[in-house]
Amino acid sequence: MSALDQIRQELLEASYLKSAEAVLHWDQETYMPEGSGAARADQIAFLSGLIHKKATGDKLRDALDELIDLKSGELRTITLNEKETRLVKEAWKDFRKEASLPTEFVSELAKHASASQQAWVQARKENSFETFQPFLEKMVDMQKEKAGYLSLGGSAYDTLMDLFEPGMTTEQADGLFKKLRQRLVPLIQEIQEVKHRVNNSILGKNYDVEKQWGFGVTILKSIGFDFNFGRQDKSTHPFTIGFHPTDVRTTTRLRENDLKTALLATLHEGGHALYNMGLPAEEFGSPLGEYISLGVHESQSRMWENQVGLSRPFWKFAYPKLQAVFPEQLKGVEMEQFHAAMNKVRPSMIRVEADEATYNLHIMLRFEIEQLLINEDFPVAELPAIWNEKMEEYIGIRPKTDAEGVLQDVHWSFGAFGYFPTYTLGNLYSIQFYNQANRDIPGLEDQYAHGKFSALLEWLRTNIHSKGRSVTASELIKNVTGEELSAEPFLDYLEEKYRKIYGLG
Ligand code: ZN
Repeated sequence: MSALDQIRQELLEASYLKSAEAVLHWDQETYMPEGSGAARADQIAFLSGLIHKKATGDKLRDALDELIDLKSGELRTITLNEKETRLVKEAWKDFRKEASLPTEFVSELAKHASASQQAWVQARKENSFETFQPFLEKMVDMQKEKAGYLSLGGSAYDTLMDLFEPGMTTEQADGLFKKLRQRLVPLIQEIQEVKHRVNNSILGKNYDVEKQWGFGVTILKSIGFDFNFGRQDKSTHPFTIGFHPTDVRTTTRLRENDLKTALLATLHEGGHALYNMGLPAEEFGSPLGEYISLGVHESQSRMWENQVGLSRPFWKFAYPKLQAVFPEQLKGVEMEQFHAAMNKVRPSMIRVEADEATYNLHIMLRFEIEQLLINEDFPVAELPAIWNEKMEEYIGIRPKTDAEGVLQDVHWSFGAFGYFPTYTLGNLYSIQFYNQANRDIPGLEDQYAHGKFSALLEWLRTNIHSKGRSVTASELIKNVTGEELSAEPFLDYLEEKYRKIYGLG
């Protein structure tokens, strides 16, 4: 077997293990009985140990060593084509990351993550930050230790963010957030002064959850979600997980007095799923078969949720169908009125329920606090206080409890520091990609009005999904749009859209 084939084979076997681990995670969040948590944690910890062993094994190391200098990352051969070169370089980056973490540390971290996440669930239920605090303190320390093992010279936070958004630096992200803040804060204030112009109370009427589910499935099918290669289930926190491009799982969350959340969650996760389904199956197992970054992944969900699902043309098609499902609740409600209700801007406590305009301020707050925790030794005990202060400063409201404040998100409990900014990056990527699709596809939005979404999906498949990890995120956006990632297109989009909805000059 050639060294390249050996690399592919080792990575393929590691991917089978990862798929098995992912199935366990999916089951844990959807169907697993409540009492099975401890046994499941052991199974997952054992599997992650195996995956780590596989991903740092001698067979992979030796094969890589034949083709690339393991220290410098310089190729030892000139016989590889462009694609193979990329594969070897990406495989080397992954290997170096995995191999720099001691096996003992990896399994200790997996164990603590599991315990800490359970502690978070309990703490949130009891609205008690104090019970979660020691778990989070240990987690912050372990993440600093992890950054130390992985460090390539930047700050600890840079190192951690690179795990989710390769190539992005704190400085770059910081620049984007500053620009967002400059225009978002006054725009939101202006909207607040005329907030009465949009009333969204119709969305809080009683909507049978089974009917909501049925409507969501219809929409998923319309946008191209193929139920031969995926399924949707229910979970407390909606998510998407792919075992293979031919097996992708999403979940949604349904509430009787809330029509908006389930609809948007279904579209959001559907967008993630379409990306997973569009990854090149022939590259499964190799880095070229994987998604580029979490920011790019989020751009796909945000596009279907916001640029498509919250647009007028989409509701021209979907609203009559929705009215047919809920004739009583939506009787006499015009499409324009419904569209405005779905797009109401309102400062709120909870990130996942935030509208497009305020959403990124929720992220900015987390981005700033994470840096304090990881780079500056900020005491974990003072998190609730700084959280509430920043909420008041950026969003204008103050949480009354920790459950609706610092305890609302799961991410920190399992050690995902540097993950949050990818949500905002996703919003920025999504609008730049979408603007380009609009330039490339004549009459794109007219097609939605007739329930046709295949041209957009084809465009995404060709330009983004099928690329796998053969390009970096910054190369991708440059190749597709000719531009660098920036905040302005997103801000322009928001200004235009919301000035129209709120009748502002
Ligand atoms: Zn998402």
